[in-house]
Amino acid sequence: MKYCFGVDIGGTTVKMGLFSTEGELYEKWEIKTHTENEGKQVLPDIAASVRAKMEEKGISAEETAGVGVGVPAPVSEGIVKNSANIGWGYKNVKKEMEELLPGIRAEIGNDANVAALGEMWLGAGKGCSNMIMVTLGTGVGGGVICQGHVIAGANGAGGEIGHICVNYSETEKCGCGKTGCLEQYASATGIARLAKLRLAKLHGKTLLEGKNLSAKSVFDAVKKDDRVAIEIAEEFGAYLGHALANMAVIVDPEMIVIGGGVSNAGPALLPFIEKPFQEKAFFANKDTKIVLATLGNDAGICGAARLII
Ligand SMILES: [Zn+2]
Repeated sequence: MKYCFGVDIGGTTVKMGLFSTEGELYEKWEIKTHTENEGKQVLPDIAASVRAKMEEKGISAEETAGVGVGVPAPVSEGIVKNSANIGWGYKNVKKEMEELLPGIRAEIGNDANVAALGEMWLGAGKGCSNMIMVTLGTGVGGGVICQGHVIAGANGAGGEIGHICVNYSETEKCGCGKTGCLEQYASATGIARLAKLRLAKLHGKTLLEGKNLSAKSVFDAVKKDDRVAIEIAEEFGAYLGHALANMAVIVDPEMIVIGGGVSNAGPALLPFIEKPFQEKAFFANKDTKIVLATLGNDAGICGAARLII
């Protein structure tokens, strides 16, 4: 048994965890993400925090298998070409991290891919080796695991499920600059957008009237049997369920794991995805289980630690 660190870099905080290589999480903590000056301080801050923890626990470099880092950007061979969220342009993250922590190996991955690894290792996908994870947050992230390996792809952009085109006639633009991306309908912001569009042309009563429209307010109203909210959830579910059925044909997963803030709606969310999935799923993929993620915000640190093993 050795120790390893899992690091999940976000736009405002860096989440960190100390693990055993066998998957025990000993301790987790957070530091601030200093994005100013093109994020120059982000990696040195992480290295200092890792060193401080090693000192505190009396852990030597020899006892440390490595530091895994999840980054909100495509990652290819440890290199990030651009990460708007944390101010980075081109950065060889693996090399810099290893220079900052002599004698300790670093492995870098995209945050959504890393979250998928985390759920496979210690969460909802335990024991699975073929799995799709979709993270429904501000955006829609994704991670595809085939035979135990994350599909990172040639540009580190493998599994970017959020940018599958699901509506060819959309005119509004996605954050990526294209139109009709899944993210425009299935992220927290996407659900709020669907709600706003529907309420604008609505004649009739709904609990959503006058409410701050969000994924949470929509699913809260769904739980109270609000007809309009249910229709919004069905629209969201159709986009997501059909996209997942299309993905299942390529990946043939044992399981599809749904995570991110939207998944806080709980089990009530699943039928809205399962029904359209079943409508479009190829017969061989019909038994694919769709489940909620179980690690919550810890998926990132868990998966980052898993990069080391
Ligand atoms: Zn897009």
